[in-house]
Amino acid sequence: MYVILLGPPGAGKGTQAANISKTFALAHVASGELFREAMSSGSELGLQAKSFVDRGELVPDELTIKLVMSRLEKPDCEFGCLLDGFPRTTGQAEALDSGFAAENKKVDKVLFIKVSDEELLRRLSGRWICKSCQTPYHMVSSPPKEAGRCDKCGGELYQRSDDTPETARNRLGVYFRETAPLISYYHNQGKLVELNGDKSIDEVGVDLIGALR
Ligand code: AMP
Repeated sequence: MYVILLGPPGAGKGTQAANISKTFALAHVASGELFREAMSSGSELGLQAKSFVDRGELVPDELTIKLVMSRLEKPDCEFGCLLDGFPRTTGQAEALDSGFAAENKKVDKVLFIKVSDEELLRRLSGRWICKSCQTPYHMVSSPPKEAGRCDKCGGELYQRSDDTPETARNRLGVYFRETAPLISYYHNQGKLVELNGDKSIDEVGVDLIGALR
């Protein structure tokens, strides 16, 4: 089963994807995570991607498609995976469709988490993440007990360089311009399931799992 998790930055895709991939034993392929790994390893691709990621812009399709398609060739994706953050442009969606078609595979379902604009901006610009265990916090809606420290493991909290208010606004603009057209792309293929992402994380999680069962 090949599933795409679609939604704006801040919709909770990362958290939900971790839960879905555990429940259904699906490999979790997160393009943003692949870029962050490439950047911290100092690879050529990471260096090329860095300036785009830091500005909250999309990395050009050519680089992104190369990175994700080579991840999809790994054995853990042979029978399925959960795509989180990819595709984000019509070009990427078409490349995925044709790459899959060449191997007699297809996208089975696209889960679209819909969240209101105000809610997104609020969520994105206050987000902090634990360096050790990746638990997300929000300075307004779910602050840690001790400032700068993870409740779960005591790790140091950091703010992603693309989570400042200005970059967050930029990332939302990019989403509406480049990624939102994928909603009708997959709707027209009869694969889109829309979920209300203004609900709590747990409620959205239950809806997502129900949509896949
Ligand atoms: P994310 O963790 O999914 O929010 O991604 C972080 C950043 O990585 C994005 O703001 C982009 O700069 C880059 N990125 C991740 N996925 C893609 C994609 N599918 N296409 C282009 N750029 C991407």
